[in-house]
Amino acid sequence: MIAILGATGAEDLRLIRSEAEKVLLENCGDAVYFRGLIEASNACACDCLYCGIRKSNRTVRRFTLDEEDIVACARLTHESRYGSLVIQSGERNDAKFIDLVARCVKRIIAETRCPELPEGLGITLSLGQLPYVSYKKLFDAGAHRFLLRIETTNPELFAALHPVEQTFQSRLDSLAALRDIGYQVGTGVMIGLPGQTLADLADDILFFERHDIDMIGMGPFIPHPDTPLGTAEVLPVADRVRLSLLMIAAVRLKLKDVNIASTTALQALDPVGREKGLKFGANVMMPQITPTEVRKDYQLYPGKPCLDENALECRSCLEARIALAGRKIGYNQWGDSRHALARGRGR
Ligand code: SAM
Repeated sequence: MIAILGATGAEDLRLIRSEAEKVLLENCGDAVYFRGLIEASNACACDCLYCGIRKSNRTVRRFTLDEEDIVACARLTHESRYGSLVIQSGERNDAKFIDLVARCVKRIIAETRCPELPEGLGITLSLGQLPYVSYKKLFDAGAHRFLLRIETTNPELFAALHPVEQTFQSRLDSLAALRDIGYQVGTGVMIGLPGQTLADLADDILFFERHDIDMIGMGPFIPHPDTPLGTAEVLPVADRVRLSLLMIAAVRLKLKDVNIASTTALQALDPVGREKGLKFGANVMMPQITPTEVRKDYQLYPGKPCLDENALECRSCLEARIALAGRKIGYNQWGDSRHALARGRGR
């Protein structure tokens, strides 16, 4: 895996890419699954040293969408025939917010049931570390997948990226809680972090395997100027894009049947980064559904694409991009990973 991650020659890259694509098509088919991405709130109790919406960043205008806004975003996702959505936010465990998300999950499922989707939209949450009871409440409301990145599995590097009270062990405990409750569990890492080695990234892949992870979301690290890591020394953009694509390929080659997202951060560094991600083995994309008025307030890193487009413009742009990558869109399907389904984790 270290050799794959360190490849630079054109012929090596071509071989790795085509082998990863072959393994993807054999194990997952040619569908790309869309999850409409709703950024529900940028209020955050955490102070991750890399993140643009960390609580200490006073330049951010904080927002929380209300129930009607969130349900309207879900309706748009449904009308676009995406089959599934992700509700993401900063980390906050206040009862008001957890109750809001739980109410939205129930309403979204009830209001999007139709002949093509008898159980309504599939719902993934990405809300950070919460107590067991909150995870359970949201699962009982009907959410069935949860994404919580481990960020890096090197404990020293993790400690260098987070305040002391945010521990590596507590992230592990949260992943275990999600698994125990019955969620399909997603995790992932940032790629090209200062001090991160190829061996660290290879270890990350072994971690995903050991923890029987169902879905992976990874992307390049992009320094945000208003954070302590804003001036950190990082690999040049082209190298970080190449490493991110190779990481997608290495995960696909090793884990075979998991879902892998081609993330927005890739597109932030390369206008066709997400299409390249699909060609290197990814099979999930998360089109922006967040209302245009607040998209600019949810900037984890600079250069976030599609800030001025609305959801309908994003939709037609993405359809053209998938066709260019030679794949088809898995309309009106939840698109659970084959890995999760094989282990009886479908809902
Ligand atoms: N609060 C939730 C959580 O912590 O899982 C979801 C939102 S959180 C901001 C989503 C992800 O953004 C993080 O897991 C992290 O990997 C990524 N992220 C944050 N800052 C980033 C940066 N500067 N460059 C690349 N990715 C970043």
